[in-house]
Amino acid sequence: MDEPARTFPELTVACPTCDAAAGRLCTSHGGTRVRRDTVHQRRRTAWGGIQKQKARTRAARTASGASTAQKTWNRGKAGTPTAPAPVPTGRDCAVSGCGELASAPRPAARMVRVDLDGSREPARWYCPGPCRAYGEALAEVRAIGVSRA
Ligand SMILES: [Zn+2]
Ligand SMILES: [Zn+2]
Repeated sequence: MDEPARTFPELTVACPTCDAAAGRLCTSHGGTRVRRDTVHQRRRTAWGGIQKQKARTRAARTASGASTAQKTWNRGKAGTPTAPAPVPTGRDCAVSGCGELASAPRPAARMVRVDLDGSREPARWYCPGPCRAYGEALAEVRAIGVSRA
């Protein structure tokens, strides 16, 4: 019996249309007729989707072993994050615009303006969190001794 559909790669997945199991030919008319030279369109689609998924997984794995998310976390360095290192804050912060004078436009929407009345420290932009705390501490220190006559 000639069954060209036997060689189809789509046969490695089950058919969502006729419920043919993986490795079995598609059937029509409620299972009474075997489709020897073709498979259902949805089976092709299902198989195609799996191939795309596999390709994506392969690409992700070969990308120097680190996911994009991990790279971002490590500031571009590949590898697994290790024990938390001291976070550079304020002037030492690597974030562009952190510690910038507030006379400059806001470097990023999340940046906060630190401005303390009576401080010799001018208003500056900082990242939210530790950088902001650093900025506030700096402004407070520079406010000590300022005459408020
Ligand atoms: Zn089918
Ligand atoms: Zn910062």
